[in-house]
Amino acid sequence: MKIVMFDEYRLGILDGDAVVDVSMAVNSQFRGTAYAMNEFIREFEKIGPTLESLIGGGDRYPVATVKLGAPIPSPWHLFAAPLNYPAHIDEMAGSKIVGSAFQQRSARELGFFLKPMGSICGPQDAIRLPDLPGRTFHHEIELGAVIGRRAAGLSDGQGAGVVFGYTCLVDVTLRATEEHSEERVMRKSFETFTPIGPAIVTSDEIPDPASLRLQLWVNEELRQDASAADMVVQVDELIERASNVLPLQPGDVYATGTPSGVGPIKVGDEVRAKIDGVGEMTLPVVRRKW
Ligand code: MN
Repeated sequence: MKIVMFDEYRLGILDGDAVVDVSMAVNSQFRGTAYAMNEFIREFEKIGPTLESLIGGGDRYPVATVKLGAPIPSPWHLFAAPLNYPAHIDEMAGSKIVGSAFQQRSARELGFFLKPMGSICGPQDAIRLPDLPGRTFHHEIELGAVIGRRAAGLSDGQGAGVVFGYTCLVDVTLRATEEHSEERVMRKSFETFTPIGPAIVTSDEIPDPASLRLQLWVNEELRQDASAADMVVQVDELIERASNVLPLQPGDVYATGTPSGVGPIKVGDEVRAKIDGVGEMTLPVVRRKW
């Protein structure tokens, strides 16, 4: 099942070229709000039996006529793995920017950082770059894992069981330089620096996330092309480890790290991010207006 949010925080199920409105599946004050998906996921097992009739009776719209938003615009937590692909670790260690201090360190040693909700945008939005002369912004395609239920203190082998689904995301990053080394969190927090979507694909359709291929183009140039199998810490273990720091919540997103091939984006570019079986987004890069 491919679940989206469209127009004003309406919940939809993708059915071919149509989106079926299932907003009524959320039977609380969160219907029609930025938290509708969190609630949908939290209540998913209860909603399940009624979902088929909701889909049968729901209003249908051609996908091309609606505005798709981030499928999960307000996750309680947006976790992100640093340095989780060996070839990306190598390219960063080889750059003057990060330096040799990062060599031999990975998400296994570093754990996670967090991105703010305010950086999230949808699959049909633009990446809006602030005007910072002399600085470079990079694209990072990442597989996003969406958590299905509250989970604390998971042990080995339990992580996969709490995944609700997967989505595609881009972790846009202001690169540090020798002169500028702001906190990582701030460099990744600018508005629109976390495009997510177009849909959450439920985990029953993705039995083996390690089999997924991630690709990102800038204009027509293929910049990133890798298999999720190359992750240093695989999805289930990332989740288990995070759950031993704090309880995970339904709708939490884990950006599982980017493979090699990161590079600059600039105003006028078009970024296309694609994960086979999960989804694809085309994102223009524009100047931020404020
Ligand atoms: Mn990243």
